[in-house]
Amino acid sequence: MKVDCAIIGGGIVGLSVALQLGRRQPGVRIVVLEKETQLASHQTGRNSGVIHSGIYYPPGSLKARFAREGNRSMIAFCQEHEIAHDVCGKIIVATRESELPLLHELHRRGVENQLTVTELSAEEVREIEPHVACLRGLSVPSTAIVSYREVCVRFADLIAEQGGCIQTEAEVRELRHNDSSHTLETARGTVEAKFLVNCGGLQSDRLALGAGLPLEARITPFRGEYYELVPERRHLVNSLVYPVPDPSFPFLGVHFTRMIDGSVHAGPNAVLALKREGYAKTDIDLRDVWDTLSYRGFWNLARKHYKEGFAEAYRSLNKRAFVKSLQQLIPEVSEKDIVPAPAGVRAQALLPSGALVNDFLLVHGPQSIHVCNAPSPAATASLEIGKEIAEKIPQLRTSTSVHFASNVERRTSNVER
Ligand SMILES: Cc1cc2nc3c(=O)[nH]c(=O)nc-3n(C[C@H](O)[C@H](O)[C@H](O)COP(=O)(O)OP(=O)(O)OC[C@H]3O[C@@H](n4cnc5c(N)ncnc54)[C@H](O)[C@@H]3O)c2cc1C
Repeated sequence: MKVDCAIIGGGIVGLSVALQLGRRQPGVRIVVLEKETQLASHQTGRNSGVIHSGIYYPPGSLKARFAREGNRSMIAFCQEHEIAHDVCGKIIVATRESELPLLHELHRRGVENQLTVTELSAEEVREIEPHVACLRGLSVPSTAIVSYREVCVRFADLIAEQGGCIQTEAEVRELRHNDSSHTLETARGTVEAKFLVNCGGLQSDRLALGAGLPLEARITPFRGEYYELVPERRHLVNSLVYPVPDPSFPFLGVHFTRMIDGSVHAGPNAVLALKREGYAKTDIDLRDVWDTLSYRGFWNLARKHYKEGFAEAYRSLNKRAFVKSLQQLIPEVSEKDIVPAPAGVRAQALLPSGALVNDFLLVHGPQSIHVCNAPSPAATASLEIGKEIAEKIPQLRTSTSVHFASNVERRTSNVER
């Protein structure tokens, strides 16, 4: 197959790039190559389903800008395409005196990020979330919920309507590049592309290295485990209740999330995963373990944060410890109120210094762009990330194009509904 642009990865970022590129350069021949049988099988289909506001991120960062704009564009997309969503807002609560300065700082940051945010007294929080116990709270009304799988179904439909091609079961196994094109050896044959976009999520560093990029950062997988409230206790949470996050970590702390299907999830934690795309505690992949342990950045991270790492591992194995964290937000929650729910694994880039890459990381290579760090809130920001990448791709067709419809494989059935 010969195409103008090959996009590796059928998660929400790869699909958004295909959608936005097709809008910007109509008629351009695009193929999305996804290794699984279903689109959105990894991070995108295993997340909390929150359309974040952008409150947490340093002003001026890509995360702050793309989350704020992505919140609006994702909600507008859901409205236009009649995708179930709910702009239910969220509350961040300080439960200890020591968290109050951090809560005020978050308020300040929210204002700087041009968001509407309001500090609330404990009584005002209880009017919204009667079961929450806290000292003060912060209301963020623009936060919303959705199923990102549903969003991907619509993205895939629109890509097909634009003449794009989506291939599943098309693992990219080898990448070669000469002056004018990329050659991708996939499980379904050879693809030649003028331009390459790597949106490989948990495999993005390997794909970038395979394409010859001198990438220093490596993906370190952090599993996020969830419980969910049993149906009789769902009334304990109306919308979304978050703790004040630890500023030294990019994770938000275990929280309560009402999902668009009405269930209420508690979590996710952040435990080092022994398999990049493994979702059970016992999943181990020797290559993944070796890649983590042989990377200097991991040991530098471990030296600084081994105590937090062990605490997370303990909480992962001990339901009582997990419940104790949840009780800091809602004291009434007990062990019998929660049951395990499917986990996700975050693709978090780590530098050799041991610093976690905080912002989105888009790396340019020869006729290629590699998305080397797109953890949360990249699902929220996906339309903006896709737009940004599409704007950076040079004009790929000079004359009026031949429509690509003959190669279109409509793939909506490949996203689990
Ligand atoms: C537990 C958890 C909770 C989260 N909660 C939220 C949230 O509430 N809101 C939010 O905005 N974000 C959230 N996120 C983050 C969000 O899910 C991700 O940022 C986003 O889904 C990243 O999308 P992606 O397309 O880059 O990656 P993925 O969805 O992981 O997609 C990458 C795709 O590439 C494919 N691939 C990899 N290698 C190859 C290859 N060699 N050949 C072909 N295909 C390949 C994979 O199979 C995969 O389908 C959460 C993430 C996790 C893990």
